[in-house]
Amino acid sequence: MSLSERGFAVRESSRRRTPALDVAVVGGGMVGAAAALALAHAGFAVALIEARAPRPWQVEDEVDLRVVGLAPSSLALLDQLGVWTSIHEARSSRYRRMHVWDAESGAAIDFDAAAQGRDALGYIVENALVQWTLWQALEPAGVRRIGPTEVRGFHAGADGVRLELGEDGEALVASLLVAADGAGSPLRERAGIGSRGRDYAQRAVVAHVRTERPHQETAWQRFLAEGPLALLPLADGRSSIVWSLPEAEAQRVLALDDAAFLGELGVASDFRLGRMLAATPRAAFPLRLQLAERYQAERFVLLGDAAHTVHPLAGQGVNLGLRDAAELRDTLVEARTAGRDIAAPHVLRRYARRRRSADTLDALGFDALARIYAWRSPALVAARGLGVRLLDRLPPAKQWLSRHAGGE
Ligand SMILES: Cc1cc2nc3c(=O)[nH]c(=O)nc-3n(C[C@H](O)[C@H](O)[C@H](O)COP(=O)(O)OP(=O)(O)OC[C@H]3O[C@@H](n4cnc5c(N)ncnc54)[C@H](O)[C@@H]3O)c2cc1C
Repeated sequence: MSLSERGFAVRESSRRRTPALDVAVVGGGMVGAAAALALAHAGFAVALIEARAPRPWQVEDEVDLRVVGLAPSSLALLDQLGVWTSIHEARSSRYRRMHVWDAESGAAIDFDAAAQGRDALGYIVENALVQWTLWQALEPAGVRRIGPTEVRGFHAGADGVRLELGEDGEALVASLLVAADGAGSPLRERAGIGSRGRDYAQRAVVAHVRTERPHQETAWQRFLAEGPLALLPLADGRSSIVWSLPEAEAQRVLALDDAAFLGELGVASDFRLGRMLAATPRAAFPLRLQLAERYQAERFVLLGDAAHTVHPLAGQGVNLGLRDAAELRDTLVEARTAGRDIAAPHVLRRYARRRRSADTLDALGFDALARIYAWRSPALVAARGLGVRLLDRLPPAKQWLSRHAGGE
């Protein structure tokens, strides 16, 4: 099979042939699209292969049900990529404060951007808007978009990694394959990389709600024994809820009529924003902790949800993925500057080592929080309340936590 499939010429180096395409990114979700754009901006020849073309985002559309809280590290990356201003101006909601409280002990902790000399802790944005804006920037940056088509398989060899696309097995060759194909990552499986973790046996019920009182540019999170309930501020004054519930409870809540749903949600939120007045239709997502055993194989790396999925209680999933993308770009630039092969095992190991340890610490930290907040014994609940109250009175510790969540 020729190495010049899909129009990519083959460079002749003095020793062996190298593909003209440096990186093939598989998966054009927020993380894969950001990685492709970051690598193209850094001067690499990049293709992005996606199985489903994203739906165009339009401001007239209802706010998409999937929203994320972007931390400062993510905002910085999107800004470097030249897309943050468009996202921000299209529709985004800044949150200046975060108030987290425990339903059982009543203990609370507050984070305030002003205390850190910032104007925001982060921004709530729609996944679809971020993805769509990144997609608009791909071709102008020189990224070759391929699809909608699926990657069916791949084979890594001395000259590059050969991807088989679509039904007819059309081929594409690159130096490096970057798998950003989501939590179920078919490519991770094909690379023989296992993952460990646990099923939380929970679902996150999401909807947007209109509340009696304004959200005050605050992200609210109440820890209940069954799971956390977050109310994230939207630009139009509503709040987006992420209500983690045991599987059967989630099914029951999904089936409630609107009035009953709003009533139960009001109680669960302790009426912090007053009564719940109206809600959009609901959706639910299964929750898993999942960490890939390795982030690299021959000419292959994982990033984003393909590498890790975490409990949404800390709102960090995509923030970790975007940090993977930035780290991968920096590692490959370092390798190129030093005149090394960007897909050399030691280069990929460096990326994998840096990101896997950081992601693992965070994922296990969020998991520990989920476990601690599931404690029901009165003694443990009292200890938890004491810990939270102490932390709230320790500004340096709070500042460290907040900066860490922001990606510093
Ligand atoms: C309820 C909920 C709330 C959340 N809230 C937050 C939050 O506040 N903050 C935060 O940071 N994170 C949050 N997250 C996590 C965040 O949504 C995910 O981390 C993020 O969407 C993952 O993006 P990704 O690009 O890695 O993967 P995906 O978005 O899953 O993208 C993978 C892409 O790969 C494509 N693909 C798959 N297989 C193939 C193939 N074989 N060939 C070609 N293409 C393929 C798919 O079509 C898809 O487009 C939340 C998650 C949930 C469930």
